[in-house]
Amino acid sequence: MHEMSIIFHLAETLDETAKEQHLTNIGKVVLQVGEVSGILTDLFVDCWNYFKGRHPVLKDSELVLETIPAVTYCSACGGRYETVRYGKECPYCHSDKTWLEQGNECVIKEIEAEGEE
Ligand SMILES: [Zn+2]
Repeated sequence: MHEMSIIFHLAETLDETAKEQHLTNIGKVVLQVGEVSGILTDLFVDCWNYFKGRHPVLKDSELVLETIPAVTYCSACGGRYETVRYGKECPYCHSDKTWLEQGNECVIKEIEAEGEE
């Protein structure tokens, strides 16, 4: 994953949304990042600060990051378990017929914004 391009698209999306909905100021932006998405969220803040300078509507915004825990589903026994702790092998039945159910995504959860009166 390329952190810079994720933030670039996020900033562009917010900028377009602001124009469409006549928002003058975007406040808090809550971004959820999966635990095993491979995204280095440490870089997000630096990238965000860079784009804040380029999009006036984002100048007072704050990027808040939330982690989505990774969960793996086992198709052999129907169990669910923590991916980071157990990896690919199911801790209940030791099957490897497992797949990642959540934890690989990167989604905008919430945007706080002010519009024109
Ligand atoms: Zn299992």
